[in-house]
Amino acid sequence: LSERLTDTLKNLRTKGKLSASDVDGTVREIRRALLDADVAFDVVKQFTNTVRERALGDDVNRALNPAQQVVQIVNEELVNILGGEQRRLQFAKRPPTIIMLAGLQGAGKTTLAGKLAKWLVKDGHTPVLVAADLQRPNAVNQLQVVGGQAGVPVFAPEPGNGVGNPVKVAKDAVKYAETKLHDVVIVDTAGRLGVDRDMMKQAADIRKAIDPDEVLFVIDAMIGQDAVATAKAFQEGVDFTGVVLSKLDGDARGGAALSVASVTGRPIIFASTGESLDDFEPFYPDRMASRILDLGDILTLIEQAQEAFDEDEAREMAEKFATDTFTLEDFLKQMQQLKNMGSIKKMMGMLPGMGQMKQQLENFDESELVRTEAIIQSMTPAERRNSKLLNGSRRLRIARGSGTTVTEVNALVNRFEQAAKMMKTVAKGGVPQMPGMGPI
Ligand code: GDP
Ligand code: MG
Repeated sequence: LSERLTDTLKNLRTKGKLSASDVDGTVREIRRALLDADVAFDVVKQFTNTVRERALGDDVNRALNPAQQVVQIVNEELVNILGGEQRRLQFAKRPPTIIMLAGLQGAGKTTLAGKLAKWLVKDGHTPVLVAADLQRPNAVNQLQVVGGQAGVPVFAPEPGNGVGNPVKVAKDAVKYAETKLHDVVIVDTAGRLGVDRDMMKQAADIRKAIDPDEVLFVIDAMIGQDAVATAKAFQEGVDFTGVVLSKLDGDARGGAALSVASVTGRPIIFASTGESLDDFEPFYPDRMASRILDLGDILTLIEQAQEAFDEDEAREMAEKFATDTFTLEDFLKQMQQLKNMGSIKKMMGMLPGMGQMKQQLENFDESELVRTEAIIQSMTPAERRNSKLLNGSRRLRIARGSGTTVTEVNALVNRFEQAAKMMKTVAKGGVPQMPGMGPI
């Protein structure tokens, strides 16, 4: 669910009570969507239980229909697990701020070091990168390349001093930063392909030696179901203050975000979204919740809400047509609804049975609505209720008042009267098709 879509769902004026079977059906869809998004099974189970409890509890909003209520609860709970508010990087009261990176080999630590440095430089900081990954032959060199791209210095062991001793390198780097007035120290560390005791111990030793302000656990968002075990192992072995999700570009569904945040209780602070140093941003729990909900079968919920909306709305309108109480104000209201719906145009196209509706939305021109709005607002209440009052001089006054022409006023009134007439006929014989939505 994108934000706009959530808003649209909230705006649908349908009513309904939440029954246990509504909740079960919806929760089932959500469970499937989350599993599809690679959220760990236990996390999904716990999550759906919480949602079910809340949905059947008292704190539901009766103004929303069942599907919407559940979607709202799901969204809130997702944001909760993901940390609620966006968590900012913690800086030391007295510089330098020490940031240590930990994670498996290939998680994206070295790349992140460069991204973080570049981001900090833009913010007026003077970071230094520290090569405390002395495991892989090329690791130091890789960090130097990244540092060059970010335009920041790299502290690395020199022959005869610190080679093979990452703890010493890290400690020396902090001293170096103090004397050279670097206000942030970013320590890159070694990872292994899998969770490994020696690696954990090395990272824990580095942590003990330099007492970082932040230990960022970097995890590949594509890792899927392995995310939980990996995150737990790092929490026990090294512990960390925050999480960075990397490779959140491409097809990554972000289920790992939910798993890791839920299992460790640590906030996700940044998202890495590509190989370039600029593919990097603070992590926003609400946006991630939207991203997770966007996937899988969650679209079904929207469809359900949409159907409920159509039925209620149609019934109400049908009554107005049949009893000849459809007014220009109703007409305007309907057009405004169209505008709301314009924003979900794209989503509608993906829903079965919505093809025709989508076509009508495609033809909808919002500037036309602005004019229609102006014209109807320039009418007196009596005129709005009874279009028969609209003689030539009234139409001229309305055209002037709304900054349009008499021709445009005429066109609008004709369209309205045609719609009302047509719908009256239809209403007597069957269910109307979204009145007022013909060619505008
Ligand atoms: P490290 O072993 O943890 O230091 O991981 P690296 O920083 O060396 O990254 C491993 C690989 O993943 C490299 O090829 C990076 O270019 C790539 N990489 C890192 N971050 C991202 C990201 O956010 N998106 C994508 N697509 N690739 C990334
Ligand atoms: Mg590395």
